[in-house]
Amino acid sequence: MMNKNSRLRIEKMADSVRNECQISGYGVQNIFKDVEKIGYEVIRYPIGEDSFLGFSLLKEDGEIIFTNSSLILSREIFSVAHELGHHILHLKKDGLTLIKDADFNDRDENEVEANYFAACFLMPRDKVDLFIRYEIHDKPVTEWNGLDIAKIQSAFNVSYDMVLYRLKSLGILNYNILDQLQVDKYENTATKLLKTIKGNIDLCKATEVKQIPAEYLEWVITNYNEKLIPINDLGSILNYVDLKVEDVDVDITSNITEDDESIDDLLGGIE
Ligand SMILES: [Zn+2]
Repeated sequence: MMNKNSRLRIEKMADSVRNECQISGYGVQNIFKDVEKIGYEVIRYPIGEDSFLGFSLLKEDGEIIFTNSSLILSREIFSVAHELGHHILHLKKDGLTLIKDADFNDRDENEVEANYFAACFLMPRDKVDLFIRYEIHDKPVTEWNGLDIAKIQSAFNVSYDMVLYRLKSLGILNYNILDQLQVDKYENTATKLLKTIKGNIDLCKATEVKQIPAEYLEWVITNYNEKLIPINDLGSILNYVDLKVEDVDVDITSNITEDDESIDDLLGGIE
């Protein structure tokens, strides 16, 4: 576990990056745009829900965040925040240029730190306190139900489970209440709860977005025309960022199902 000093250091950094992004509401409304505003290149690609979640990559000419848009949006948003954490806390150090995430459950120190950064960035303590005060009117937590969690979820653009996890770690919810709120989710599903409060149900769906920075397009087209890029596998998207499959240590044959997407579809969507 992180000691208090590391936690405070990371909290402070998350806060200052939030300010840099000029985020003023409770939650981060469009994290994809916000990280671009502060200089990151964001690549989103649907590589399949069983594939890896994302990576952070430092190149000579840019800082890249890749996220898997086959995941439900709330998880993809978390991925961006987590990879942003890696950029800020870990890359550049010791010549580290690439961190790839198969999942976020790793107990490795860097992973714990990136998760903590993401939690502080998406749900800062002060904003959570204000939301509970102004929007939930300081209702005692013993009276909360799934709808209250859905309200918080929608305001902060995170998953239901992340709200529970964060409120627990901020000392706002205890285990008994947590269990009850978990049960509410199993009985009603997060989507239903969000619908009931007219919240953001998109959080529970995958966007399957394909977003590639303009800088890469010309390069991609050239390589495609010369038949250097295989279209239907992970290699193509990795090539967009000058990476090879072996660089990211992934067995693509077992993870990726072939699909009929062509590069023309991809480019057509961007024109
Ligand atoms: Zn990570």
